[in-house]
Amino acid sequence: MSTSEYRPEFTAYEGNLDEVEVRASEPLKNFYGMSLEDLKSYLSGLGKEQFRAQQIFKWAYERRITDYELMSNLSKTFREELKGLLDFSMPPVLSHLISVDGTQKFLFDMGDKNTVEAVVIPSDDRLTLCISSEVGCNMGCKFCFTGKQKLKRRLKASEIVGQFMQAHDRLKPGQRISNIVFMGMGEPLDNPEAVFKSIEILHDPWGMNVSRRKITVSTSGLVPEMWRVAANKVRLAVSLNGSNDEIRSQVMPLNKRYPIKELMAACHEYANETGEKVTLEYVLLKGVTDQLTHAQELHRLTKSLPCKINLIPFNEHPGSGYERPADAQIEKFQNELIRLGSHVLLRRTMGRDIFAACGQLTSEFANKPQTMDISNSKIGSTYSKTKQPLSPSRTVEINN
Ligand code: SF4
Repeated sequence: MSTSEYRPEFTAYEGNLDEVEVRASEPLKNFYGMSLEDLKSYLSGLGKEQFRAQQIFKWAYERRITDYELMSNLSKTFREELKGLLDFSMPPVLSHLISVDGTQKFLFDMGDKNTVEAVVIPSDDRLTLCISSEVGCNMGCKFCFTGKQKLKRRLKASEIVGQFMQAHDRLKPGQRISNIVFMGMGEPLDNPEAVFKSIEILHDPWGMNVSRRKITVSTSGLVPEMWRVAANKVRLAVSLNGSNDEIRSQVMPLNKRYPIKELMAACHEYANETGEKVTLEYVLLKGVTDQLTHAQELHRLTKSLPCKINLIPFNEHPGSGYERPADAQIEKFQNELIRLGSHVLLRRTMGRDIFAACGQLTSEFANKPQTMDISNSKIGSTYSKTKQPLSPSRTVEINN
């Protein structure tokens, strides 16, 4: 991928910046957009030995050294040449917020006044990066903050890998990102070339060596592209969010194009081909998707599919028009699915105080508060304040 198209206008940001970095001004080929094979063939086209690609990968990913002067096993002449060929620029971090629960949210400058967000979510045994694939999104899901913006542009592979590396570089010593979920801004299957290229790079043992089994691509239901998830041997998550076509079309307009029957057929195909379960995400919206009849319909719809259902109590955000159900209703809904025999988990809400919870990400940074006080919030209280948290043993699943 050439970075010649990559010319951000870096304007002074007027918010409360934690960090500002200035991207290299000279457009070169961006290293982070190249797989090992890409780099090998690029170097070989220049008459260089292919093993040099592995050496450069090892410096950049394993040792995190991107200063050519320090790449001591490359000759001085080659290092000088490389300076004019490859650069290691990453999307600058405009802000880095840390929630009271340890969730970290990053805002990245993608140039041309575009920004995206990514979130690092800690849990007992893993550190999950929720990553963005597009600036804005055309899918228009009604409960989603990102969906309020039209698609501005699709990210490049280097910009997706760059989000990972920037977050990685800010971890505490000894920590590593173990899981990646493409559940940030954008519909990943609307940008498949860049998404699967970034997966190839991050999975490579010479890259960040993230297991494919720990990478989840989440789709709102772009049925014709879903085969790619199985072909790339990564996990599939589907935003279902409605137990019948009428409700799902109301909440997710894409359903009018690819109704539930087609979506479920694509899910069965994935499960048959990979032998893996599909994760079905189901947002609980008060009075819309949270009734016991919906739970029963959801069970009927999914009982023949190897799957687990992640219930996500709606995370309220300004102007959404939806409400989060009461705790008691959430518990009833979950219990009904359990009674019927579904494999169901209630997703723990993380990062609400920094607007990093599911469905709250946006690139319209200026129009959105970046923090909120959850001390008196019924939302924050679900897990942090009530004396009896909702079924704690069943509220820990984030993803994968
Ligand atoms: S939920 Fe995902 S697919 Fe739907 S509008 Fe939001 S970002 Fe787009």
